[in-house]
Amino acid sequence: MSNEEKSFPKTSINWYPGHMAKTKRQIEQDLKLIDVVIEILDARIPLSSQNPDIGNLIEKKKRIVLLNKSDLADEKKNILWKKYFEQKGASCIITNSNSGDGIKDILKEIEKLMSDEMEKQKEKGRIGKNIRIMIVGVPNVGKSSLINRLAKKNSAVVGNKPGVTKQKQWIRIASNIELLDTPGVLWPKFESQDVALNLAYTGTIKDDVIDDAEIACYLLKYLYNNYKEMLFERYKVNDEDINSNEENEMILELMEQIGKKRGALLPGGIIDQEKTARLILDDFRTGKIGRITLENVK
Ligand code: GDP
Repeated sequence: MSNEEKSFPKTSINWYPGHMAKTKRQIEQDLKLIDVVIEILDARIPLSSQNPDIGNLIEKKKRIVLLNKSDLADEKKNILWKKYFEQKGASCIITNSNSGDGIKDILKEIEKLMSDEMEKQKEKGRIGKNIRIMIVGVPNVGKSSLINRLAKKNSAVVGNKPGVTKQKQWIRIASNIELLDTPGVLWPKFESQDVALNLAYTGTIKDDVIDDAEIACYLLKYLYNNYKEMLFERYKVNDEDINSNEENEMILELMEQIGKKRGALLPGGIIDQEKTARLILDDFRTGKIGRITLENVK
């Protein structure tokens, strides 16, 4: 482990182990009722936004992986990531829970995954069996937005069923598909500084430990090395604005330039670093810098 990683402090404090264990038990319980699990990932950080225990948790359940927030991610990389998950044997759909892109494909995929099973049921004379699905994912990845999307057209709540844990609500989203109305909120990975930064850039975790200025500096460094054109275009800066050859110095200069161009100044004309940092993070999170993917398929 590098020094940088070793010194990286705890993150996403909400997920203390007790909370994790409780969530895990609840999800395990819910999964008993489920035929197909919809696992939502953030298309900008497909690996960092994947729960570390998902394989064990879901085991042999049928699973559909969604690359959500695809509108914010690099289009070409969305396709590469889709192939990556498909090569691992998962069904994978590129979605945008805000606009509804890809949502219809989810229903089609559920039918496809369950067709053999439904055929078997029919042979046994069990006609009209519902397919039950649930949505799981780390915080902020778009679970509620997706539930709203799926529920919109036909939001009839199916209601509690005898023998099913109380308060569980099922929403009919197709003639034979029912969705559990509460998603499984999975805990994120805590495995390295890179993962934690990815989760911080995207706003998946609200990190009290690293501050916005630090997060924005790391993000700028990534963007400078990988999406320089977009970055320069957004903030109307260019290489001539940067004098230093040392990377960290360069990034600080870049930050200064951006602050100056955007008028993020303190009295006396000094750059307001916090404000500049928030502006950069906001721009990134809302896609104003462009469509950016932070992880590449290896
Ligand atoms: P949850 O915590 O997983 O339930 O996430 P939410 O559904 O509350 O979404 C978190 C934020 O991400 C909200 O501001 C949503 O509007 C936004 N969001 C969700 N899905 C998408 C998407 O596909 N594209 C974009 N651009 N934003 C999304």
